[in-house]
Amino acid sequence: MKRAVIDRETVQKIIDTADIVEVVSDFVHLQRRGANYIGLCPFHNERTPSFSVSRAKGICKCFSCGKGGSPVNFIMEHEQLGYWEALKYLARKYHIEVQERELTDAERAEQDARQGMMGVNEFAMEHFRSNLTDTPDGREIGLAYFRERGINDWAMERFKLGYSLEGRDTLYKAASEKGYSEKYLVDTGLCVRSDRGTVYDRFKGRVMYPIFTISGKVVGFGGRTLKTDKTVAKYVNSPESIIYSKKNELYGLYQAKSAIVKNDKCILVEGYMDVISMHQSGVENVVASSG
Ligand SMILES: [Zn+2]
Repeated sequence: MKRAVIDRETVQKIIDTADIVEVVSDFVHLQRRGANYIGLCPFHNERTPSFSVSRAKGICKCFSCGKGGSPVNFIMEHEQLGYWEALKYLARKYHIEVQERELTDAERAEQDARQGMMGVNEFAMEHFRSNLTDTPDGREIGLAYFRERGINDWAMERFKLGYSLEGRDTLYKAASEKGYSEKYLVDTGLCVRSDRGTVYDRFKGRVMYPIFTISGKVVGFGGRTLKTDKTVAKYVNSPESIIYSKKNELYGLYQAKSAIVKNDKCILVEGYMDVISMHQSGVENVVASSG
């Protein structure tokens, strides 16, 4: 899919409007120091502030690690966004309407499909999360497992952990009732269509780990069974789709991104639970491969 293009005039308006002090202040506590502002650098660990912001020049700069730049540069680095995404971020912040080039029919169809699939995944994530606390199986099997592994509420919330119920089509029915399309349920791999045309849930009786893109969109799930039955696959993952490619996603990257930037390194671990446990213990620049 081609990137939607923001017209030149709007780009200039965003650049003219974005105030470096306001943009940085959303992430860094700034104090006035003469004509400038100063705060703790968000890109490296430090105890004494060396991150300086100049409203007059419209730039920020860290005198220790050298990072900084314009509001666009700052957002690109801090939020790990591309140029256009950073511009859109600033447009949202300043309520500037973004004019984008018309998409072709094919582009529009693909964008609709991607949004539809991500919407279904978002619904499924919330469904799995509420199963974990609001159903007896969720509590006795799923929640009990996370507790036994020492996972606390903070980490469960941060990683949006959940539980898929044992029934044949619990998710399918819940999603259909809410009007989610069968096509997207099948295309995301949350559900499977049998040869006879019936649709059933892929994930049954499993603790659920949503997989997020770097910007926080749910593109897939990993599900682990807690049964000891050897005929049941221990892990089931979402299949590849137009929104999910295993080689492109790292588990935990969304939650880890600011710590990775700050530490300028990233630790790759084996499994989902390793990522979650390490975040919980305060080491947040950790990811795992996603399946
Ligand atoms: Zn720095």
